[in-house]
Amino acid sequence: MTEFPNLLSPITLGSVTLPNRGLMGSMHTGLEETGDWNRVAEFYAARARGGVGLMVTGGMAPNPEGGVFPGAAGLFTPADIANHRVVTTRVHDAGGRIAMQILHAGRYAYGKGCVSASAVKSPISPFVPQALDEAGIEKQIVDIATAAARAIEAGYDGVEVMGSEGYFLNQFLVRHVNQRTDGWGGAYENRMRLPVEVVARVRAAMGPEALLIYRISLIDLIPDGSTWDEVVHLAQAVQAAGASVLNTGIGWHEARVPTIATSVPRAAFAHLTARLRPEVGIPVITSNRINTPELADSIIAAGQADMVSMARPFLADPDFVIKAATGRAAEIAPCIACNQACLDHTFSGKMASCLVNPRACHELDLRLDPTPAPKRIAVVGAGPAGLSCAIAAAGRGHHVTLFDRAAQVGGQMNLARQVPGKEEFHGLVAWFTTMVDRTGVTLRLNHTATPDDLAEFDAVVIATGVVPRDPAIPGQDTALSYIDVLNGAPVGRRVAVIGAGGIGFDVSEYLSHRGDSPTLHPDRWRRAWGVGDPATSAGGLASQGPQPEPSPREISLLQRRAEKPGRGLGKTTGWIHRAALQMKGVRMLGGVRYDAITPEGLHITRDGIAEVLAVDTVVLCAGQVPERSLADALTALGRKPHVIGGADVAAELDAKRAIDQGTRLAAVL
Ligand code: FAD
Ligand code: NAP
Ligand code: SF4
Repeated sequence: MTEFPNLLSPITLGSVTLPNRGLMGSMHTGLEETGDWNRVAEFYAARARGGVGLMVTGGMAPNPEGGVFPGAAGLFTPADIANHRVVTTRVHDAGGRIAMQILHAGRYAYGKGCVSASAVKSPISPFVPQALDEAGIEKQIVDIATAAARAIEAGYDGVEVMGSEGYFLNQFLVRHVNQRTDGWGGAYENRMRLPVEVVARVRAAMGPEALLIYRISLIDLIPDGSTWDEVVHLAQAVQAAGASVLNTGIGWHEARVPTIATSVPRAAFAHLTARLRPEVGIPVITSNRINTPELADSIIAAGQADMVSMARPFLADPDFVIKAATGRAAEIAPCIACNQACLDHTFSGKMASCLVNPRACHELDLRLDPTPAPKRIAVVGAGPAGLSCAIAAAGRGHHVTLFDRAAQVGGQMNLARQVPGKEEFHGLVAWFTTMVDRTGVTLRLNHTATPDDLAEFDAVVIATGVVPRDPAIPGQDTALSYIDVLNGAPVGRRVAVIGAGGIGFDVSEYLSHRGDSPTLHPDRWRRAWGVGDPATSAGGLASQGPQPEPSPREISLLQRRAEKPGRGLGKTTGWIHRAALQMKGVRMLGGVRYDAITPEGLHITRDGIAEVLAVDTVVLCAGQVPERSLADALTALGRKPHVIGGADVAAELDAKRAIDQGTRLAAVL
């Protein structure tokens, strides 16, 4: 008997039967654009071997005007079809199933040739779309149906028609963008004509057997978005037009509500899929912030959905399903929803990967094969750099001893997980703890390693991390460091935070909360961000707007650079951190010189004007420098340790770089 009988039970979608109810949702990785189809095929084949029931590819453009960016991948030529066949063949050989997503970006297409229902610019694009005429609409439908036919020719099991997230089809649905007065605009029946016609023509193009997934927006999270009645009406019409299954989309890309970031509660939107399910006669798939087999199983058990879509969790661990099915759920590398190596990379034009699993999208070039010559390896420091190196090296067959002077593994991740909205770091530390045990690493906690401890090893890895930078502010001995604060030191009501990097933002977040994190309480979180009910407010934005819980403290977050604090934060998550602190009334100041800390408060100069911030507590978050004392001592003795993570370079260090560097070193030890 499996632990997850609901997730792991088969399901039939139209004429296709899947062995389980896990769906790998669509993700743009950038792999297709490399032109290395062997690499694309291995990415998907690895996940097929890992047992996922069905995969959906990254979005493929049906035509150049619908591509998310110029040159976006699609099936335009016979060569494209042959390339995609490499992928489908490898997936099928591995026992998997795969559908191709057809993504027409409409006004989100990054280029002057973008098209939409009306010439209404999106707030997140510089381009005004061209309003399509009748012939232009027909061309888009034909191109989408042609893409579907080519997908079948390329060997896909079906397609997913992307109808959510504010893309082309979604744009026709709402008055916000669709201001037409012809047969494609006005009444909802007209506005929904395009998606329904697209589904009917795609079904006709593919024939009755192929899988047709329609991704429907259940809550737009934009002003004047769809109402719940409209969503249900569309779902039923799409079913009648030939969809085999409905997948869930949450929020347009331009929405100012986070929908997948780590501070979003797990399964925060599954209740909407549950509400749709009885309204239709085809299976429904739920999505967003579901990252464990326990949660996925419980959603299906509760009747909230027929299947569960998880996208990023399959970057973090391609073997998610097989581990869940074989009693090894604790070994599933958890997606912490950080976006740092996936979406942040994609939106910076870089190849996607995963903070937790640097092998994601590097399946062929970063290999952890068994070593022919096991060595005795010492790793000092059980932060993410040392942990990743230790478990990967031990997994390859080396004999690894891991030292840490602390009583637990995790290094700075143990501070990160104190921050409200960063609870996923608990799971990451737990996973590393499990993997240290399962890979047979010898763990020596509460032990400050010295050169003598390391004399007998064949290789020594120094991953001793960082220490806080000394900002040398007169009177700073009365200030607290971020380490004190996150370890629970008492902090006054009026606070100045010195340094507005990732840690300054996190410390401000920590200090602006009282009690439990709203991330653990979906109702409170939805209230704070102004998420209402699409049944009572179109688009699902609460009529009273965001209702953040008041901060127990007055906080000033400061930096020396004369620019907006928070510019260096994550590409796709920085706005969330800034908005969260703004909602809490945190005052953010750039261009600050720190003159002194006295009993009156923090003395600063800004624009040549001196001022005293009357605060009870000053917290130092002024960056960090490498902790290299052990590495230096070994080098002085003529040893040649490998130095990784913060001990190597502290500037712009994060867990992504630490894990990547640790894993890559382990691959060559
Ligand atoms: P560390 O994590 O500092 O680990 C070093 C370890 O070495 C420590 O456990 C220490 O006890 C041990 N050690 C040192 N000397 C010795 C010795 N002589 N003997 C034995 N043990 C020794 N990064 C992200 O990517 N995303 C985030 O969201 C994020 N949030 C953060 C939030 C906070 C509040 C903080 C503080 C950090 C955050 N980071 C985040 C940064 C990330 O945690 C660090 O970049 C990462 O932990 C550095 O990894 P490391 O292994 O190099 O060092
Ligand atoms: P950081 O991002 O480098 O920020 C350091 C801050 O200190 C900056 O605001 C800097 O701005 C200020 N500073 C630097 N030298 C100073 C000095 N001598 N005196 C006073 N202020 C000084 O470093 P961090 O906040 O310590 O974070 C460390 C790493 O952890 C970061 O690289 C980050 O990637 C990672 N992290 C990531 C996240 C995340 O959510 N992804 C969260 C937390 C941490 P000025 O020089 O302008 O004053
Ligand atoms: Fe998840 Fe972060 Fe990995 Fe993206 S980078 S898949 S969000 S853990």
